[in-house]
Amino acid sequence: MTYLGAHLSSSGGFYKMGKAALAMDANTFQCFVRNPRGARAKAVKPDDLEKLRVLLEENAFGPIVAHAPYIMNPCSKDEGIRELAGRMMAEDLALMEYLPGNYYNFHPGSHVGQGLETGCRQIADMLDQVVSPALKTTVLLETMAGKGSEIGGKFEDLRAIIDLASCGDRLGVCLDTCHVSDGGYDIAGNLEGVLEEFDKAIGLSRLKAIHINDSMNPLGAHKDRHAKIGEGTLGTDAIVRVITHPSLKHLPFLLETPDDDAGHAAEIAMLRQRIGERSQ
Ligand code: FE
Ligand code: FE
Ligand code: ZN
Repeated sequence: MTYLGAHLSSSGGFYKMGKAALAMDANTFQCFVRNPRGARAKAVKPDDLEKLRVLLEENAFGPIVAHAPYIMNPCSKDEGIRELAGRMMAEDLALMEYLPGNYYNFHPGSHVGQGLETGCRQIADMLDQVVSPALKTTVLLETMAGKGSEIGGKFEDLRAIIDLASCGDRLGVCLDTCHVSDGGYDIAGNLEGVLEEFDKAIGLSRLKAIHINDSMNPLGAHKDRHAKIGEGTLGTDAIVRVITHPSLKHLPFLLETPDDDAGHAAEIAMLRQRIGERSQ
């Protein structure tokens, strides 16, 4: 069965998220490890994580994805903000060790006038501080829409970070369908071509997770506004082609659409029906 899920609210704790995922016929999910806007780590109880680990195993979940806070910017001009990014990632990764074998995804950041090269170097430096060989979590770089001075709007940006980091061999990538379309890659009109470009620049074996979002804006808009599946410029057919593609279908697919749990459940049901995993 295809690994489908959504970004869930982590306010009730980790085990509760697993239950919420099951209730919406999901077999993966994404969450923040901490409050998305706050820099402070929430008091996470290891037994909550252990209960989730057992639940995921018992229900044959695919890998889950923890998402770094949006405020994290490892290539800020400000040294203090860069250091904070490294601290937050180290703390989050320490918690993820209770859930071995999953993913931790982050936005590479915005170089804010420092230039792409300096930005990529700073991101690689942070990764080398926190990604140890013993880590049981794979850290993923997310493809971005290329808004402002955002790094990751081009596949080559991510390749550059991977090449600069000593831990590059252990890094993966998470592709966001809304972001790549906004970034100018025609994933709706030419999926094969986009995957070929990805393979050439980064290597398809590095692709570990997919964010499935429709986009409110046209190809190349560099905007990053997610739409519900079928309500944007990509359309349901394009998303179905992504989740059924032979090179991708084994990956976890996460909705980050502007919806609550009930809305995400409806999207998952619609997609499972479209790919023939549910009859009704
Ligand atoms: Fe993201
Ligand atoms: Fe995303
Ligand atoms: Zn986005």
